[in-house]
Amino acid sequence: MKVLVVNTGSSSIKYQVFNMDDESVLAKGLLDRVGIPGAVLVHEPQGKEKVTIQKDRLDHTAGMKLVLDVLTDSLYGCVRSLDEIDAVGHRVVHGGEQFADSVVIDDEVKKVVRECFDIAPLHNPPNLMGIEACQALMPGVPHVGVFDTAFHQTMSPENYMYALPYDDYEQYKIRRYGFHGTSHYFVAHRAAEMLGKPYEECKIITIHLGNGSSMEAIKDGRVVDTSMGFTPLEGLVMGTRCGDLDPAIVYYLMDKRGLDSTQINNYLNKKAGVLGISGVSSDMRDIIAAAGDGNPRAQLALKIFCNRVKAYIGNYLAKLNGCDCLVFTAGIGENGYDIRESICADMDWLGIKMDVEKNKVRGQKIDFAAPDSRVRLLVIPTDEELVIARDTLRLAKGTLT
Ligand code: AMP
Repeated sequence: MKVLVVNTGSSSIKYQVFNMDDESVLAKGLLDRVGIPGAVLVHEPQGKEKVTIQKDRLDHTAGMKLVLDVLTDSLYGCVRSLDEIDAVGHRVVHGGEQFADSVVIDDEVKKVVRECFDIAPLHNPPNLMGIEACQALMPGVPHVGVFDTAFHQTMSPENYMYALPYDDYEQYKIRRYGFHGTSHYFVAHRAAEMLGKPYEECKIITIHLGNGSSMEAIKDGRVVDTSMGFTPLEGLVMGTRCGDLDPAIVYYLMDKRGLDSTQINNYLNKKAGVLGISGVSSDMRDIIAAAGDGNPRAQLALKIFCNRVKAYIGNYLAKLNGCDCLVFTAGIGENGYDIRESICADMDWLGIKMDVEKNKVRGQKIDFAAPDSRVRLLVIPTDEELVIARDTLRLAKGTLT
């Protein structure tokens, strides 16, 4: 069976086609600059040359049509016709409290995705646009929604509730939801395999460090806590997002800088994080390079970034009463061994001891714990698309005759 995985953002469409018989990737690509002049599609078919296609301007519907045309192209496509694709999996960022699992998309599901526009204004509208464009072009196959929020639905109220008047939860659904669910799910299950223990018996702290970053505490197969909250702004310091902040700063800054609610939202999401502190870049490679050249604000950004991760490790070790392993993943977690080293330094009292030499590896599955460390220190490359493809296959099988 073949599954197409689609991740539609406000100005991009990412896709992968999987052959689910062996879970190999037949083709993948990224259409960038959707909705603005100068759309660019980079398509990578397995075993063939990469192809770049440029177009003047494409909306999401035309963009999706271009992607499907490329997939079926006689020269660089990966299927002869769309009939070969058995199901489509769509990444959906916010499923509110309704979805604790992936789901076959029908009108009721789309209604819920729409109801979450208010709390995920950057993500859910393009996600739904992608779903509708794809459904119109591929009406005969099941479309499955895989939610970033679903994995965290096992959290209990003392971890997901804010200390706000209870009415704000009942009326506006203000609570912590958590994001990056497919990534945490994937690496936590892989970690259990590496530990040689059933997942349901493990205590795991997953640390996803990329452009967006989040952490998760998992015990006995249930998510206990996660660092992102009502939106993906809470928690760790990120490329351009501030993470945890005294809420009083928000209205103080609105006053001082004369910002309205949209502008402060943009400020905290796009101008803060390591970019805001360093003034150099949101990209961790640039920050590391600038810090190495002696830039004091880049050095400070690195320290704040690592310090926040350390603080969450302490928080989660307390909540889990210790853990079997820390798992590092995503762009920075998989590649930035100097960052992993700073995070794991000086925590031997907590049972965390690393082998500094073993840690000096990029993008590979490793355990860099010292032999006498009580906590295993794992690096596991994430694969969110594969989780979406597997879930899509599982749900689609129930609908196919
Ligand atoms: P992601 O969002 O998972 O694609 O991760 C993107 C982030 O990973 C960017 O901040 C990159 O700078 C960072 N990254 C990629 N390679 C490295 C590396 N070798 N060392 C440190 N950070 C890296």
